[in-house]
Amino acid sequence: MASPQGARVLRVVGPVLLALGVLCFGYVLVRFVQAATEPAPVLTNDPAFGVTPAIFLGILLLGGGFQATWWAYLGPASRYVARETAPALEVSARAAREGWTEDARPQGSGPACAACGRVARPGAQFCDRCGAAV
Ligand SMILES: [Zn+2]
Repeated sequence: MASPQGARVLRVVGPVLLALGVLCFGYVLVRFVQAATEPAPVLTNDPAFGVTPAIFLGILLLGGGFQATWWAYLGPASRYVARETAPALEVSARAAREGWTEDARPQGSGPACAACGRVARPGAQFCDRCGAAV
């Protein structure tokens, strides 16, 4: 979606947000382990940074990180696919438009058609392409 510069920024921001989100959930996991192993009610008595905000923040960071990474890498990826498949699509489209048989027929070594210039097969009386007499 973004310009190359924007994609470069997202390529840094996305993984950073993802890492922070993972850290948040790691923190939450640690707190849960502490709560399970310690007798004190750690989850409810936390003046510094509660587990519930950490979960919400982690979800936000992971969501934003995924989105930014998606934007950063989806754009170049889809452009690459488009660039790689465009020539084949164009050839197919042109063939479908002009007809597959047009140039599939072998050109001969006879005289060139006076009307269209296609080289006729030796001994041919009419042009393969336009039907004019040669
Ligand atoms: Zn002709």
